[in-house]
Amino acid sequence: MPSRDGAGSPRQLLALFLGTTLVLLTALGWLGWQSLQQDRSIEAQLVNDRVNTAADLIAAQIRQNLIDIEAELGRLSVLPADDLKRSAANYSKALGGDALVVVFEGQRVLAYPADRLLYYPTLPDPVEAPPDRFSVGETLELRDRDYRGAAAYFAKLAQSSDHEVSAGALIRLARNQRKAGDHEAALATYARLATVNDAYLFGWPSDLRARKTRCDLLDQLGRRPELLAEARQLNDDLHSAKWMLTRATFMYLTSELRRWLGESNPAGPHGVALALAANVDSLWERWQRDPAGMLGTQGSVVSRDQSTALSRGTANRVVAIVSGPLFLDHHVVAPLRELLDRYGVGLTLADGEGRTLFTHHTTTAGDARPVMRTMDETRLPWTLLVVSADPAADLARMAARRSLLIGGLVLMALLAVAGSYFSVRAMTREIKAARLQSEFVAAVSHEFRTPLTSLRQFTDLLADGRVSDEADRQKYYAVLQRGTRRLTRLVENLLDFGRMEAGFYRFMLEPMRAADILSRVTTEFVDEMTPRGYRVDVQLSGLHDALINADEATLGRAIWNLMDNAVKYSPDCRTIWVHGSGGDGAVTISIRDQGIGIAAPEQRTIFGKFVRGTLPTGTTIKGTGLGLALVDQIVRAHGGHVRVESAIGEGSTFSIILPSQRSQPEASPQPTTVEAPS
Ligand code: ADP
Repeated sequence: MPSRDGAGSPRQLLALFLGTTLVLLTALGWLGWQSLQQDRSIEAQLVNDRVNTAADLIAAQIRQNLIDIEAELGRLSVLPADDLKRSAANYSKALGGDALVVVFEGQRVLAYPADRLLYYPTLPDPVEAPPDRFSVGETLELRDRDYRGAAAYFAKLAQSSDHEVSAGALIRLARNQRKAGDHEAALATYARLATVNDAYLFGWPSDLRARKTRCDLLDQLGRRPELLAEARQLNDDLHSAKWMLTRATFMYLTSELRRWLGESNPAGPHGVALALAANVDSLWERWQRDPAGMLGTQGSVVSRDQSTALSRGTANRVVAIVSGPLFLDHHVVAPLRELLDRYGVGLTLADGEGRTLFTHHTTTAGDARPVMRTMDETRLPWTLLVVSADPAADLARMAARRSLLIGGLVLMALLAVAGSYFSVRAMTREIKAARLQSEFVAAVSHEFRTPLTSLRQFTDLLADGRVSDEADRQKYYAVLQRGTRRLTRLVENLLDFGRMEAGFYRFMLEPMRAADILSRVTTEFVDEMTPRGYRVDVQLSGLHDALINADEATLGRAIWNLMDNAVKYSPDCRTIWVHGSGGDGAVTISIRDQGIGIAAPEQRTIFGKFVRGTLPTGTTIKGTGLGLALVDQIVRAHGGHVRVESAIGEGSTFSIILPSQRSQPEASPQPTTVEAPS
């Protein structure tokens, strides 16, 4: 059987196609993966390029911004002393924020504004009253231990119009009052001394000395609330640079205050001021160590903690801006804002040891790697760290492109799968059609061969005159007639089918009585089958005089085909039943047999061209698979349909249902032409 020989081919083809599709999909997947990887590194490269470009532009712009500042420092460094004071004070005001202009000249340090420098690297020796002015009182105090006498002496001396003498007398008066146990009086004297602010006592401003000693006494007396209040006040004044102090004095006082105020000593808010003072200190040390190193046009930079120092100098004088983060923000970063926004980057300025001095809008996102420009590379006072400000946006851009790519790949994969599926389906169909056609050719050849063989045999017998008996001759003529009719029907079936398939067939529909057609066809069929031993039970009474619009020849052929199948597929039963009935605007022509029956799933497919049903094992019934396809075409051209009811082993009933009308003799019905349905 050709169908069995070719059965493997579609499966092999399917496997081949599936294999090809799988290879294609794998290739697509690999390609996609590679593209994604490449896309990721391109995006990273783009971000990196952007940040690098921004870093270079930022460095160039900062350098540009510093030129003005350095020029001003250069101008100040060569001004006459009087002009310098005024100009430096004005310049420091213009700088605002947390910037401090300091001038080193000889052994002098000047600061503008002065209240921004907490302590000085060096101070001139203070002028105090000569010690022998107090020797009388001190003799009473130290040698005679006559504290009250000494107190009386110093109280009198405190009236002196020389405020240095007056201050010296007051501090000694308070000391003797303490020694005499008159603490209230001592406290009052310290308070009085605290109002004298233009004298020095033992190296400190007299008011500072008085307030510190008053705190000592309050501490000694255990008067804690008063001590805290005064210590706090002293702490505030100290950190707002009320006095010009050396570093040692400042540090000593802060440690004392910390002792009184505990850890709550508010050094924190003064962090920048402390950093400025420390920076001035180290700048001074460098100036002392290597004055030449501070000269030149490039200036010098010291960045430490939160402070930066920019300086320019001559042989005798150094002028520097010592500043905190505010100055950086206002004078260095603010002019860069537009640039930073345009490139979507954040900036950190760090000192030479990598400590952050200022940060602008940097991200905390983990994988954004900063681009670094060191001081050596840029010749700037800071190390620059530039980073993409919004890595999430970079990622989102990447994700959008990735989705597009993945979408495209999925679409391509779907197209590949769909393409393969449809190709396989089309090829399977083609193969099936080819197989059916070859089966059809074999079947048709066989259908022709059988009647042709008997025709030739009987014709030869008659032509050779070998049949002498008239009755035999008549019998052979009848056989020849049946064979010829059968061949004619076969040829007409094939020709009609071909024409209908091509859409050339024109049905000539004419109104006629259904009973007439059916009785003509059944009569012919009975004539044909009776000699072969078949019985046809015909019941036409139900049709009455129902009229149908019919092309007599083709409708007759359809009924014949059904009756022929009923006989063909009933090997064990020699009777078939034909029944015609009418009513409700329809005519039903049923052909029933008690043959092999048709399996339920096949009842839908057998109307397809070249389609043959499954036969019981061991049964051979020849056929072309065209009969029912033709019946279906013809009946549909008549506006009707074919119905099949069947059960395996019990037989089948095929019914043609056509629209009808009752006969109206007075009406003169008109013929109509209908094209074959596709
Ligand atoms: P053919 O008879 O040449 O094979 P048909 O188109 O006339 O082609 O019929 C298609 C198939 O339908 C047959 O191969 C057969 O399996 C099934 N068939 C048709 N009529 C009957 C019937 N009366 N009883 C059982 N099977 C039938």
